[in-house]
Amino acid sequence: MDCPNREKNLQECNCTYPGCSRKGMCCLCIRHHREAGELPACLFPDEVEKTFDRSVEKFVETM
Ligand code: SF4
Repeated sequence: MDCPNREKNLQECNCTYPGCSRKGMCCLCIRHHREAGELPACLFPDEVEKTFDRSVEKFVETM
């Protein structure tokens, strides 16, 4: 499965987690993190994103 928007999505994706197959596939990324009670990388500033803490608690603390 691929997404016609993947290349454009990748240009705007700030996720630095290596090797994730969902990168650029925003619907899969959001679903994955939502099911884990988390938020995707793009909702965090770069400095926080690179900690890989995608928790709602970290989002609230950051924002
Ligand atoms: S935020 Fe999570 S699911 Fe999305 S690309 Fe990064 S590691 Fe993958």
